[in-house]
Amino acid sequence: MNNTTSEISVIIPVYNEEAGVPELYKRLTAVLGEITDNYELIFVNDGSKDNTLAGLIGIANTDKHVKYISFSRNFGHQVAISSGLDFAKGNAIVIIDGDLQDPPELISDLYKKYKEGFKVVYAKRKSRKGETLYKKTTASLFYRLLKNITSIDIPLDTGDFRLIDKKVADQLKHMPEKSKFLRGQIAWLGFKQTSVEFERDARKYGNSDFTTKKMFRFALDGITGFSDFPLRLATWLGLIVSTFAFIVIIYALYSKFMYAVVVSGWTSVIVSTMFLGGIQLLTIGIIGEYINRINTETRNRPLYIIEDTNAGEADKQE
Ligand code: UDP
Ligand code: MG
Repeated sequence: MNNTTSEISVIIPVYNEEAGVPELYKRLTAVLGEITDNYELIFVNDGSKDNTLAGLIGIANTDKHVKYISFSRNFGHQVAISSGLDFAKGNAIVIIDGDLQDPPELISDLYKKYKEGFKVVYAKRKSRKGETLYKKTTASLFYRLLKNITSIDIPLDTGDFRLIDKKVADQLKHMPEKSKFLRGQIAWLGFKQTSVEFERDARKYGNSDFTTKKMFRFALDGITGFSDFPLRLATWLGLIVSTFAFIVIIYALYSKFMYAVVVSGWTSVIVSTMFLGGIQLLTIGIIGEYINRINTETRNRPLYIIEDTNAGEADKQE
């Protein structure tokens, strides 16, 4: 463990951002230079398939503020940030996307709030430029749903762009869950939190890698990690449907034995089988989502594998 600290660490997950890295580096350096000289930029290369890594190494060779951590493959945005946290030595730690959708210049506003004593300063997007209606609607629906089914207060319309105090980062490291949902974990931790508003820019270079499938999985991580509502829903559905089924059974037996009514009954058979089958699959699916995550936890594999870095083992913060 290395005891030298920085005033600010900035963690930047990058995946196929080769085109944007030079501008990103320039803008980060400019804004941080105005705050202090004692800062570090930690780029986490999340298994990029382009030349992002070469670009990062080039920059690191000329600037001692720059660290890079390069994964052996793509582990995902949340894991990339988590590994940055493992190495960050700052009193204040900023998490920012590497695609310039989060304007680096806002860091000085985040830092001002931090200096006022806030332990978490998250950047709240007033608008999201260049994003499809589909993405905006699904994201908005998801966060509102999550708010309603969890007991913790996850701020609406925020991503991971934020500043956290070292104390918060240290606590995060004691939350070793593999299915990361950092914005939820940070909300769960508490501490004095505030927000700064900003206009989220459109992506300047490259493309978003968040496919619907990835977004769906991320949303499920958020829900399963912070709510047991779906499990309770499964129980309630089971109860309601079985009560209903029981009544129908009584009715069927009664009709048969008391009135000897034999109906042809195709429609009712189809309707009830479909209905019961559907509810059963749904509830099994819900349970499966939770079991899947228990399974991931019990395998206890490392969260990420580093292939190349200029941050020594000694830089790892316990
Ligand atoms: N990213 C990453 N690993 C991934 C996908 C994305 O490190 O598997 C990085 C990406 O380079 C960017 C940030 O995470 O800096 C946000 O990704 P993206 O822009 O694709 O997400 P969106 O803005 O669409 O939510
Ligand atoms: Mg983006």
